[in-house]
Amino acid sequence: MEDHAALADVFNIDEQRVNWHDETLWFIRSKRDLAVHKLPEWEALRNAASQIKNNVLSNLNQYLQEFEKNALKNGVQVHWAANALEHNQIVQGILTDAGINQMVKSKSMLTEECGLNEYLIHHGIDVVDSDLGERIVQLAGEPPSHIVLPCIHKKKEEIGDIFHEHLGTPANMSDPQFLTETARIHLREKFLTRRAALTGVNFAVAETGEFVVCTNEGNADMGAHLADIHIASMGIEKLIPKREHLAIFLRLLTRSATGQPITTYSSHFRKPGPNQQIHIVLVDNGRSVQLGRPDFRNSLKCIRCGACMNTCPVYRRSGGHSYHAAISGPIGSILAPNLDMKKNADLPFASTLCGSCSNVCPVKIDIHTQLYKWRQVIVKEGYAKTSKKAGMEGMSFVLSSPAIYRVAGKAGRWTMKYAPFAVSNKFNPWYKQREMPAPPEKSFNEWYRDNEKNN
Ligand code: SF4
Repeated sequence: MEDHAALADVFNIDEQRVNWHDETLWFIRSKRDLAVHKLPEWEALRNAASQIKNNVLSNLNQYLQEFEKNALKNGVQVHWAANALEHNQIVQGILTDAGINQMVKSKSMLTEECGLNEYLIHHGIDVVDSDLGERIVQLAGEPPSHIVLPCIHKKKEEIGDIFHEHLGTPANMSDPQFLTETARIHLREKFLTRRAALTGVNFAVAETGEFVVCTNEGNADMGAHLADIHIASMGIEKLIPKREHLAIFLRLLTRSATGQPITTYSSHFRKPGPNQQIHIVLVDNGRSVQLGRPDFRNSLKCIRCGACMNTCPVYRRSGGHSYHAAISGPIGSILAPNLDMKKNADLPFASTLCGSCSNVCPVKIDIHTQLYKWRQVIVKEGYAKTSKKAGMEGMSFVLSSPAIYRVAGKAGRWTMKYAPFAVSNKFNPWYKQREMPAPPEKSFNEWYRDNEKNN
């Protein structure tokens, strides 16, 4: 079973990498702060977005039907997928019916969630991720480590090595401009020759049946406009009721993600061009189950800006891969247990519960509260680790009576003084990177009583 702490240990082997990963993400968080403080109406925008999403989640069935009706009117083909397998089979079916065995793909964490690349490759269909960061991790044989910055964990020297191995660039060449130029030439050929392109969806507008894709590289547009078939994979929670609501979400999204006022490309797709097809696959994959969990339904408001990851002290120092789920970080730790509670039981514990994630979230998801609530569900359902359960039961016994607490305190101070090896040893991860403090002579309670007497 994959475990966040064990995987974070692997990331932590390279201390230098941990430091710049931490600093880079904090730099992006700071850029977000600067952009946000330039907008006096920021809190009003957050409130409005949160309320619009509340409305969407409370009336999801109606908005989905409205969106489908309008999309069909626009000449778009609409498909419904209950789970990841159905989504993958629908995409495969569209490609196979058109006799296509090669596709470009862009900006879709949903397809990561569904394992689409592996599925299509297994069925003989080649997929090339066209976002530069996604292409780098695809060539490296890794999943993205961040939803907005997929290869933020890689050094430029490592990218140079990957390009040398797969794209034939000179050895030890890590100049970013040269590598970007190489990727551009490599991807341009894919855009020109692939007849199908898949994109994600940032927002879908119920009243018009259109959808919006936000990118900084323009790769989604390049793929979708050149291909005969454009497939858009969309989680059912991506809806907004009206086009005018886009103004709110587009202002929030990129400021929160990278500190930019707006994405370089915010492309609206409404109807297919001549001789083109647009297919939208509406995917549930556990979302309606999450909608039915009152404590966690708000997580479906997420607009995937990544701000909660950039600010999280645990994410910044443990890396995205330590979360072993398509969506990492604080929001991923709320979404993943809904999909598989047993496999992802460790994730809600990968947090300090400091609340920084909730503070930056542009749609006001109470992220740290939900992490805390997931912990309770996981313990109640019996998925917590035996060692964690035993520890909690022990602490609950000690804290249940002042007398037991006093005796335990005395025993602890005695042990730290006369048998420190019983506490500070290789089986206790807390002391791996910490000095054990000298034990106090008396408890605070004893000190207080003595001082009260003396005064
Ligand atoms: S939970 Fe909020 S901060 Fe995190 S990615 Fe989603 S919208 Fe952004």
